[in-house]
Amino acid sequence: MDFNDIIGHEKIIENLKNAIKNNTVSHSYLFEGPKSIGKEKLAKVFAKTLLCQRGGDSPCNTCPSCMKIESGNHPDFHMEYPDKDSFKKEQIEELQRTIRKIPLESNRKIYILDDVDKMTQQAQNSFLKTLEEPPGYAIIMLLATNGYSLLPTIVSRCQIVKFTPIERHKIEKALVNNFGRSEEQARFIASFSNGIIGKAIELSKSDDFKLLRDEIIEKLNTVINGDKLKIFSISEFFEQNKELIDEVMDIILLWYRDLLIYKETKNVGFLINKDKADSISYQCQKLSKQKIMDILDVVRRTKEDIHSNVNFQLAIEVMLLNIQEV
Ligand SMILES: [Zn+2]
Repeated sequence: MDFNDIIGHEKIIENLKNAIKNNTVSHSYLFEGPKSIGKEKLAKVFAKTLLCQRGGDSPCNTCPSCMKIESGNHPDFHMEYPDKDSFKKEQIEELQRTIRKIPLESNRKIYILDDVDKMTQQAQNSFLKTLEEPPGYAIIMLLATNGYSLLPTIVSRCQIVKFTPIERHKIEKALVNNFGRSEEQARFIASFSNGIIGKAIELSKSDDFKLLRDEIIEKLNTVINGDKLKIFSISEFFEQNKELIDEVMDIILLWYRDLLIYKETKNVGFLINKDKADSISYQCQKLSKQKIMDILDVVRRTKEDIHSNVNFQLAIEVMLLNIQEV
């Protein structure tokens, strides 16, 4: 694994490489950004580079150190995860014991702690001591979805590296080149992933996800065709997919976003669901622009409502009836 294997985050990589070149690598980093955006992968490549025996600004991937990182048994590299659902004080105390032992095979010792959002207050207080006076050879990388859950005194000790969503075209390209997806599939999945590469990869591997979209589009066709009785059987489909309701609602939003764009431009090239152009053109004939905008409003509102304890089934049925009332 190398910096080249990382999708997006070019600026972060450049800054970390510069820190290596200029000898300004920090003792503690806080990598902050959404889940599955690539923090762990990037932190590991950075660690590998710092431990590489060639001492360049990228890992050589051939020295014993690089090989050991790759196979997961480098004695100076430690990857820590929360124990069950939190980092507990005992875990931090264990880390504090091992970090004091000098590195065995290099002049550095690296700790990556994933999901530090889940560190208990007690553990954070204890950990603060290590951050205040780390051994000279130690480098600590904390990975968090959200730094707000950490003590300000912890955050202020770290160099903060913010991870932002990856541009859609880069995810699309990666899905086509590295995961063998067609351009149409890559486009839909990339749009759906909101710049989270891990989510895009997971979705691209999931047959269920493709089927789910096809099924939703078919249901929407039925709704538009106007049989009121069918609404109730369709609402059962939502009930069955309640666990995935955010994904379901996002699929619907992207679908009507496409209808709106097609209505305005008649250009298939702009569509996210490009592979479903026939269906889009068909539904477009049945709906006015105003109607499509109204539907988008209803779907957005329903998406919010179902998270605030309203009657799920009722909310869905009202939404479907609203979509139907052309
Ligand atoms: Zn190496």
